[in-house]
Amino acid sequence: MSTVLVIGAGGVSSVCVHKMAMNSGIFPEIHLASRTKSKCDAIAESVKTRTGQSVATYEIDAEEVPAMVNLIKKVGANLVVNLALPYQDLPIMDACLEAGAHYLDTANYEPKDEAKFEYHWQWAYHDRFKEAGLMALLGSGFDPGVTSVFTMWLKKHKLKTIRTLDILDCNGGDHGQAFATNFNPEINIREVTAPARHWENGAWVETPAMQVSTPFDFEKVGTRQAYLMYHEELESLSKFNPEMERARFWMTFGDEYIKHLTVLQNVGMTGIDPITYQGKKIIPLQFLAAVLPKPESLGETTKGNTNIGCIATGEALDGSGEKTFYINNICSHEAAYEETGNQAVSYTTGVPAMIGSAMMVTGEWSGEGVFNMEEMDPDPFMEMLNAHGLPWQVAELDGPVDF
Ligand code: NDP
Repeated sequence: MSTVLVIGAGGVSSVCVHKMAMNSGIFPEIHLASRTKSKCDAIAESVKTRTGQSVATYEIDAEEVPAMVNLIKKVGANLVVNLALPYQDLPIMDACLEAGAHYLDTANYEPKDEAKFEYHWQWAYHDRFKEAGLMALLGSGFDPGVTSVFTMWLKKHKLKTIRTLDILDCNGGDHGQAFATNFNPEINIREVTAPARHWENGAWVETPAMQVSTPFDFEKVGTRQAYLMYHEELESLSKFNPEMERARFWMTFGDEYIKHLTVLQNVGMTGIDPITYQGKKIIPLQFLAAVLPKPESLGETTKGNTNIGCIATGEALDGSGEKTFYINNICSHEAAYEETGNQAVSYTTGVPAMIGSAMMVTGEWSGEGVFNMEEMDPDPFMEMLNAHGLPWQVAELDGPVDF
């Protein structure tokens, strides 16, 4: 397994392709295809300048399955790394099955007309991937991705069972813009405007979006307000850790972000139902995304750190009673930009996409069917995080979280 085809040419793809090129022993042949070829060419040029490695580029609409099948076969890809948008997950999985390639992504499938982040569409492909002798690895970004691996590492090395889990995602970076999103604006806004949902006593508990929050002191960022949200790894984490009493996801937002988002929501700009404008059907959120700053343009101006991690409480492996551990990574926007030309939100997603791909290409992780990160051995992935720019730390806390 040594020829990879990366789909999508945004910030996440840019980081992933740079990191693959920096590891040419694992990724000797890299192909990059997206809707806009000039964006692929710009990434390839930067990769050439920074690493000396060549990346072949192509134009593709990933929703056109026959065109995808042709491209996978033409380049001889064994692994397709989907870094386009969640809408393209199923057509790319279909193309992989037909062309005989393994599959990896960083975000679960979402229908365009419904902001529903659920794994069942992709889990339904399990038998087909199994019969074809192929592997699909879902959610190899940071969250989902690293947060899932962090949790399973704690369960392997520190805790026999997990009673409560809190995932805390803080982007302490300042990009100098009044309002911008750090990854694809359409996907980001669909995510944060959806109702919050957390797992408690075997059921989902739903609360209105952005209503429940808590201050939290993040190392190398400071105290920020973290908001309860739904995030897709809660679904896989609760499936693979059925003993959990409660699992929650928190993300920080500044007052300016909340103020702008509230106004945009109130005036209908975040809607995903089509409206007619000058005789043409448009989707308000897509129009908004088109006028917002492009996430990949924020790299140069973003200063500060991200701090993302998991706090898990449960029965200690060594039989010493209930223990609480906090495992996290702190990533500098400036250092991420210096290394790859992209800010830390793209970096913290693109690096795990490279590492997940490396796990598959080297055979460290293997299987036939559709898998989540939770099902794999966390150790080799955790080693690569330390070696490839996302070092992590783990600390024992005095007790469970009190929020
Ligand atoms: P961008 O919007 O910057 O990039 C998406 C890329 O996909 C663009 O180059 C776009 O093309 C391309 N694309 C869109 N539709 C198609 C299509 N039909 N065919 C081919 N290419 C297409 O997004 P990001 O780089 O910020 O994010 C990439 C992915 O990573 C998203 O799925 C996002 O949800 C996920 N993500 C995951 C995170 C995690 O931690 N797990 C965190 C952050 C993001 P064009 O340039 O023409 O628009």
